[in-house]
Amino acid sequence: MKISSLFENGKTVFSFEIFPPKKDGAIRNIHKTLEELSALRPDFISVTYGAGGTAAGCSTRELVTYIKEHCHTEAIAHLTCVNSTKADIDRIMEDFRQHGVENVLALRGDINPDIPPKDDFRHASDLIEYMKPRSDLHFSGACYPEGHGESASIVEDIINLKKKVEAGAEHLISQLFFDNTFFYEFLEKARIAGINVPIEAGIMPCVNAKQIQRMVGMCGASLPPKFAKMIQRYESNTEAMRDAGIAYAVDQIIDLVAHGVDGIHLYTMNDPYIARKITESVEKVIRT
Ligand code: FAD
Repeated sequence: MKISSLFENGKTVFSFEIFPPKKDGAIRNIHKTLEELSALRPDFISVTYGAGGTAAGCSTRELVTYIKEHCHTEAIAHLTCVNSTKADIDRIMEDFRQHGVENVLALRGDINPDIPPKDDFRHASDLIEYMKPRSDLHFSGACYPEGHGESASIVEDIINLKKKVEAGAEHLISQLFFDNTFFYEFLEKARIAGINVPIEAGIMPCVNAKQIQRMVGMCGASLPPKFAKMIQRYESNTEAMRDAGIAYAVDQIIDLVAHGVDGIHLYTMNDPYIARKITESVEKVIRT
């Protein structure tokens, strides 16, 4: 099923993201995690892509196949292009074709200062332009409510985002944010710019202070005072931090759904407990 068909009839889409396990021997665990996540009935699960697409011998594509075939849930394969040649992408497209992958989140990927990028693809839009006429795939893209770190301004970033949509991205998923105001302002600017595809809001529950500081360092999301206070107060109490982080994410989601967003994309961090707690709290809000 093509992801954009999920948004028909004004339904609020609710989706999850997972990453392939990084440690050897974790494959059985990830299968169990996927089964537990699928039991929560997300509209789809997306699987991130690391360097080379494989971690601990378990590739993004293999997990997408597992989600579709064993969990009977739709899935998106993330795919980055910054370190790939056209021949690499041709091989990946053939693997997708052979295994019935239908949906791809096309990404440039972060530029590693120690690895010079390959020349074939400079941006996610180049990847979509290359793959679209060569496949039947459906393309999603990433977007940044606070602007991508390399853009001089949010307006410049939205002008570039429009190029991604014009290249063929039919659905966007946002970077995480902790202050919904950034998302609403971004959405307004994107719509004025003529970006009319569904845009899902990316929500990451903050259940571990160190992990969130690392993520924020990587993606530059602003920390509202309310959020910073929560971390300060509970960071040394694991269970209290987890419960506070879940409550904060639920509060964000309810406000977003009340504002009529197209969808919520939950960064599950491969933790079914957290995904279940959040899903149970927002299920009626989202599915009515
Ligand atoms: P692009 O869309 O290419 O944008 C990068 C920069 O170039 C931006 O500043 C943009 O304004 C500018 N730009 C874009 N298009 C053009 C154009 N045509 N002309 C000129 N300038 C342009 N990383 C991973 O390694 N694996 C993952 O699985 C992964 N999943 C992600 C999922 C989501 C939802 C998000 C939000 C990010 C994810 N990332 C992932 C991180 C992502 O790879 C980085 O944020 C990366 O720095 C940018 O990727 P992009 O596809 O947004 O790049």
